[in-house]
Amino acid sequence: MLWSGWGDPAKASELPEPIRRLLRDMLGVHAPQVPAASFGEVRLPAVALSPLVLTRLRGVVGADHVRFDDDARIRHTRGKSTPDLMRMRAGDGSDAPDAVVLPGSHAEVLALLRICAEHRVAVVPFGGGTSVVGGLVAARRGFAGVVALDLARLNRLVSVDAESMVAEIEPGLRAPQAEQLLAGHGLTLGHFPQSFEYATLGGFAAARSSGQASAGYGRFDDMVVGMTVATPRGTLDLGRAPKSAAGPDLRQVILGSEGSFGVITSLRLRVRRAPAERVYEGWRFESFAAGSAALRRLAQDGPLPTVLRLSDETETMVGLARPGELGGLAADAGCLVIAGHEGFSEVAARRERAAAVLSECGGVHLGPGPGESWAHGRYSAPYLRDSLLAAGATVETLETAGFWSNLPRLYDAVRLSLHASLGSPLVMCHVSHVYGTGASLYFTVVTAQSDDPLAQWEAAKRSVNEAIVAAGGTISHHHGVGRDHREAYAAEIGDLGVEILRGVKDRLDPEGILNPGVLIAESASGEDRSGL
Ligand SMILES: Cc1cc2nc3c(=O)[nH]c(=O)nc-3n(C[C@H](O)[C@H](O)[C@H](O)COP(=O)(O)OP(=O)(O)OC[C@H]3O[C@@H](n4cnc5c(N)ncnc54)[C@H](O)[C@@H]3O)c2cc1C
Repeated sequence: MLWSGWGDPAKASELPEPIRRLLRDMLGVHAPQVPAASFGEVRLPAVALSPLVLTRLRGVVGADHVRFDDDARIRHTRGKSTPDLMRMRAGDGSDAPDAVVLPGSHAEVLALLRICAEHRVAVVPFGGGTSVVGGLVAARRGFAGVVALDLARLNRLVSVDAESMVAEIEPGLRAPQAEQLLAGHGLTLGHFPQSFEYATLGGFAAARSSGQASAGYGRFDDMVVGMTVATPRGTLDLGRAPKSAAGPDLRQVILGSEGSFGVITSLRLRVRRAPAERVYEGWRFESFAAGSAALRRLAQDGPLPTVLRLSDETETMVGLARPGELGGLAADAGCLVIAGHEGFSEVAARRERAAAVLSECGGVHLGPGPGESWAHGRYSAPYLRDSLLAAGATVETLETAGFWSNLPRLYDAVRLSLHASLGSPLVMCHVSHVYGTGASLYFTVVTAQSDDPLAQWEAAKRSVNEAIVAAGGTISHHHGVGRDHREAYAAEIGDLGVEILRGVKDRLDPEGILNPGVLIAESASGEDRSGL
């Protein structure tokens, strides 16, 4: 993974000249004055951990698995949001952990947490490092240091219960390797977020991820039937049946807790048979409203495709444009729907029934071309972000969800807020996940960088968070809370809701060492520590 950008450096691509021209002419984008910092120019704080702590950590995992070289520290600094990348490009390594520790078992995680609690060392559970909400930055104040707890060594497919269709998998396994191992059993998770190449299963559970095929396979939190969690207070073993009436479901307390209540060390996941057939195709609708109505009908009355997404007019126009044609973007491109069907012999019949609904709702069938091109490029957009940043354009994504009746209001609120903050940005949107009762909206924003692009985006992001809350949407459908959405999340669940979460945290993590400042603000006792 590129330390200051996304993905495999070999896949990085230059922006074609027509796109550069378009950015300049449409958005006023100009190359930044200051070049990006090189790896050697990143400024890191001195390692704060005492020799005693380092010795004790080594005693648990072995010297090879406690790293505090610059390479390890830089690669575990923050996540992959656009502000994260901007800070790294500016050479700002101030959030780097003091050490990276790689445990090899649940028992080792428990022992590490005990030591860190004893010495007041903050612990950041680290999966694939793809958080886009500031979920990997610990508040340092009041702590004797920060350790990134990298779960990469917990990467086994432990067992497959083919009768129950449940696989036990360790949390540090990355999604492609998980799919590869499950394919050996003819199975799949069906979880394909855009961060698929790098994110881990533990990260998906901790941040309630949702993949591009969520209509068919469900969100990741739907797949979790059980888990083992290491906390500073001991082990939680949750989930002995698919569903239960035995009180509140504590699995739901850990899902979405983003490493601030405990470290997930094992997951029991519902799996599906790997599909024999996949068909992706495109449909055109006159307007976003008409396309939304069609998606709603499929979500409510069926049949629901495995992949279902609808781009608004702007996203359709930009997505359909080829670099050579960018001079003449077609304003009447309409709105593109991608419908994908995965499964077995029933795929043809399901596809036909869905096609009938889409036609009835005014859709025009575009054939497999757009579907295949979407499937082919589904992981490539994040690579483009690096080239855009280098060219002087800020590009970032944000997402929300709401009930169908409120979706138009939410859509307008986000767009208005972004336009008010950024002048004339390019704002694209698609409906990314659908349910019977509502859907999520996923926005991509492109704007010319100001002299201080970080402050420019942070101000816009603050306003748009407020706009989402005011318009009745959730602050996140699948990216999570981290630090960036903490205030909006608190507004969403109210003071009492925050108190409940704080109560859980105080009980599981009395020293407050786990991801301090992520999900909820540090507790009063945490602030006391800051005086130290
Ligand atoms: C380019 C890009 C595209 C993305 N696309 C999507 C998408 O389509 N859908 C989607 O849902 N998300 C997406 N994301 C967001 C991100 O990939 C998800 O939030 C993912 O779930 C994070 O997984 P990870 O392994 O990288 O976790 P990390 O980023 O390492 O961690 C995420 C959070 O979970 C905590 N954590 C990690 N592992 C554990 C564990 N074992 N136990 C307890 N806590 C843990 C961390 O402390 C952190 O707070 C995208 C991100 C990027 C950069």
